[in-house]
Amino acid sequence: MSLLHDLLEFNQQFVENKEYEKYTTTKSPDKKMVLVSCMDTRLTELSTKALGLKNGDIKHIQNAGAMISHPYGSTMRSILVAAYMLGADEVVIMGHHDCGFGALQPEPVMEEMEKRGIEPNVFETLKHSGIDIKEWLKGFDSVEESVKGNVEKVRSHPLMVPDIPVHGLVINPDNGKVDLITDGYENK
Ligand SMILES: [Zn+2]
Repeated sequence: MSLLHDLLEFNQQFVENKEYEKYTTTKSPDKKMVLVSCMDTRLTELSTKALGLKNGDIKHIQNAGAMISHPYGSTMRSILVAAYMLGADEVVIMGHHDCGFGALQPEPVMEEMEKRGIEPNVFETLKHSGIDIKEWLKGFDSVEESVKGNVEKVRSHPLMVPDIPVHGLVINPDNGKVDLITDGYENK
């Protein structure tokens, strides 16, 4: 039995037993906020539970490092759609200590890519298309600085709703403690 088939088998029971009913909510967030956090497995539930948020409260975007890596990438687009169309009035960017993406160095990833069958000349080809793979796969030295930078990217985005506060937080994945990095109410 494969993972995928396990998932689908579980899903059949889930729907038949109407277990979805306890998760029923609307498309608009009750707390009118969009949260960007890391995809770290330790934070799947902790990132919302530690802030007292429950299902249906917020729009939640998770990616490697809680990054806004490109001003016109899908994370920034999701924030804009949440703000303009889905009722989010505040943005929270939450990084975390001991982030696997933060510690990421491009070279070991590139080595792993080659081991798994990616030809080295692909990196060169990408460079000619304007994608520096080493920059693209680079983590960050300080999570606090990373959060500040991402907050600034959202706040200064030319399409961002001007009067929406953008906050920056850092969470400890061991105990759920959250520290304030940027208070968006001060920068409005
Ligand atoms: Zn992380």
